[in-house]
Amino acid sequence: MDPFSEDPKRLTAFECRRCNACCRQPGFVYLEEGEAERLARFLNQDVYEFTDRFCEIRDRKRLVLKKLPDEACIFLTPEGCAVHPEKPGQCRDFPVKWRTPASLQYCEGLKTLIP
Ligand code: SF4
Ligand code: SF4
Repeated sequence: MDPFSEDPKRLTAFECRRCNACCRQPGFVYLEEGEAERLARFLNQDVYEFTDRFCEIRDRKRLVLKKLPDEACIFLTPEGCAVHPEKPGQCRDFPVKWRTPASLQYCEGLKTLIP
């Protein structure tokens, strides 16, 4: 059960602790319309070059970011997210707008909000 479902206002106190655990989880970062173009521009790349290098297709038609064999996102570096200023909406929205039961175990910021 989500401990924030009955009192979502508690999430306004959320502060990211930059542990980057969310960038190493199973699952995929799905790109919404226009996000591949935005990321490609940020990296000074042609969108076709960007999708070839950094994306794969899931569910037959949806673009996701590639992952490394250890599940880490292809954009995760020792210094954090290499595309932080333009990171996809799915990453921006986590964990305030969406989270999973597992997030409560690994997200250092969420853990501080759970009594
Ligand atoms: S794009 Fe950045 S924030 Fe999103 S999963 Fe990859 S490294 Fe993490
Ligand atoms: S797991 Fe939580 S605290 Fe860690 S980087 Fe992701 S959002 Fe921030």
